[in-house]
Amino acid sequence: VVELVDIRRSFPGPPVVDVLRGVDLRLDRGEYVAIVGPSGSGKSTMLHLLGLLDRPTAGAYRLDGLDVSAMGEAQRAAVRGRRIGFVFQAFHLLPTRSLVDNVALPLVYQGVGRRERRERATRALHRVHLSHRVDARPLTLSGGERQRVAVARALVTGPSLLLADEPTGNLDQANAAAVLDLFAELHAGGMTIAVITHDEAVSRRAERVVRLSDGRVTAA
Ligand code: ATP
Ligand code: MG
Repeated sequence: VVELVDIRRSFPGPPVVDVLRGVDLRLDRGEYVAIVGPSGSGKSTMLHLLGLLDRPTAGAYRLDGLDVSAMGEAQRAAVRGRRIGFVFQAFHLLPTRSLVDNVALPLVYQGVGRRERRERATRALHRVHLSHRVDARPLTLSGGERQRVAVARALVTGPSLLLADEPTGNLDQANAAAVLDLFAELHAGGMTIAVITHDEAVSRRAERVVRLSDGRVTAA
């Protein structure tokens, strides 16, 4: 469960930019929401806060009952590593490494041994229907397949919350549909998902649409 209470985020200026001006948001376990709003409305800023990649200027954030807004950096990094998966518009895969190595990367940072890394990364690739390509290089894949690798990398640590910032932004319709099918499967499996999108085809498939405008959530 995710709870944002009166979250504010300003960026120092001059001029100071008050991007989030009192965001309240609750995501129940297993919910699938789309976050929409005009360019510059603060969607990515909000997702970075949810993903513990950034800290609010004010306000409270509880994640699975933990008051993460009160935690120090080391504790936040541990929570991020265990509970949160992040997918970006650009896939950010390492071109010279195999799919399984790419997917296993977050486990390297957690000190997981080589053999277990390979097992867990292979399972994650299975979940995104790419287990037949574990030793392939990213550049031999289509865009949609690459994004599914990025999703596998986000899943490999066993997160409870999957965050995605325009995950279909670089994909054609067919590849985007494959990624959306995958999100639907993960949702059916109980994953909590928040996805930023400009694409109607994406928000249609979420259970709920959260709209950001003027620094607040206007529909939740
Ligand atoms: P888009 O749909 O174009 O991706 P967005 O809704 O994701 O837009 P954000 O990236 O959250 O918008 O940015 C919101 C506002 O905050 C913008 O005006 C942006 O310039 C500003 N901003 C974001 N990050 C920073 C930063 N680190 N320092 C200063 N200003 C920032
Ligand atoms: Mg953005």
